[in-house]
Amino acid sequence: MQEEAGVVIIGGGIAGVQAASLLSALPVKLIMDEPYLPYYRMRIGELLAGKEPDSLYIHPEPWYAEKGISLVRGHAISVDASKHEVHLEDGSSIPYSKLVIATGSSARRLSLPGGRKKSYVLRTASDAVLLRDDLSTAHSAAIIGGGLLGLEAASAIASLFSIPVSVVESASYILPRQLDRDSAQLLQEKLSEQGVSIVTEGAAESADDSSLTLKDGRQLDADVLLFSIGVNPAVEIAASSGIVFNRGIIIDRRLRTSAEDVYAIGDAAELDGHTFGLAMHAREMGTAVAKEILGNGSDYVPSESAAMLKVAGADVSSFGVIEGEARVEEKDGARISLFISGGVVRGAVVIGGRSAAASAKAMIGRSI
Ligand SMILES: Cc1cc2nc3c(=O)[nH]c(=O)nc-3n(C[C@H](O)[C@H](O)[C@H](O)COP(=O)(O)OP(=O)(O)OC[C@H]3O[C@@H](n4cnc5c(N)ncnc54)[C@H](O)[C@@H]3O)c2cc1C
Repeated sequence: MQEEAGVVIIGGGIAGVQAASLLSALPVKLIMDEPYLPYYRMRIGELLAGKEPDSLYIHPEPWYAEKGISLVRGHAISVDASKHEVHLEDGSSIPYSKLVIATGSSARRLSLPGGRKKSYVLRTASDAVLLRDDLSTAHSAAIIGGGLLGLEAASAIASLFSIPVSVVESASYILPRQLDRDSAQLLQEKLSEQGVSIVTEGAAESADDSSLTLKDGRQLDADVLLFSIGVNPAVEIAASSGIVFNRGIIIDRRLRTSAEDVYAIGDAAELDGHTFGLAMHAREMGTAVAKEILGNGSDYVPSESAAMLKVAGADVSSFGVIEGEARVEEKDGARISLFISGGVVRGAVVIGGRSAAASAKAMIGRSI
């Protein structure tokens, strides 16, 4: 007897689970290739502190059965859109009436000469568990990439494992896309109090098992080496199935790919030349695709990006466009920089104080 075709979702990340949770009126299969139940990826840093992956689960196992969501363990390798089938690595095939690709993204690495045997990325719960084990015997760590995730990891590693951590950043100050130079300097001082040294205008040249050498000859201790240099949208399924992709899988505002009845959402998708890398957009697209499949969709408009991180105990928030004239004020222990162009607040950076961050965010778009 032929299996009933319903909605099939490839990828049990935030986008895929959000879509599945709203589609429980239909039969749903969620194909997942990680050894855990879907978890909050942005919280994997907590695993470095000794928590176990099941503490990050989005839902407990019985929730999926209650919602009518079948969990399928496996790695999808291609889609036959004319037959409405997904093929898995183990040779099995799953029929679908609608397919959602929510394969996320994978962390980039550099391949460095010098004979180093081990290096890490921090993208999955498994990555975090392996990294934690190695950090427990390490005397130093180096992180390549001074972006949000690299700095958050540096701060966590220095405080949890009490080892010196170097962060190599290619720009002339940290977080150039999120912070102005003065806010970056303040943050750098807080990090240095924790044992994190920032190496700006640095580029990795080679690595052996205990050190990292930069192109300008500087040498950094690196018992553990972590790459935090961004992600690549996971487009392999599209590439093997004739579905149009660029950096991400190309979608229109109804989340539709070039193949009929196939949608893409989350980090894997590309809309109007932009790819995404934030949980908020993954969740929004999960909601939007569910509405589309249920017949009450509307054009998806991504909400304004916001970045928030905790470094050396301080909340750092950045909203909107960080360029133009900066007006800085200190209020209730928080340092607030508003970025103004054409008399309108276009962006804001706040160090310390969640309520100050909320009011700075509310200023964006206002005339001043
Ligand atoms: C350490 C860390 C901290 C972060 N912090 C924040 C933050 O503070 N705020 C924020 O907004 N965002 C944050 N992010 C980014 C956020 O986690 C991602 O934007 C979000 O997880 C994207 O969701 P997704 O569902 O599109 O993809 P993912 O969460 O990547 O999930 C995709 C899933 O699909 C699986 N998969 C891939 N290919 C296949 C296949 N062929 N077959 C079966 N399964 C497959 C993958 O293994 C994965 O489980 C952080 C990310 C990391 C790593």
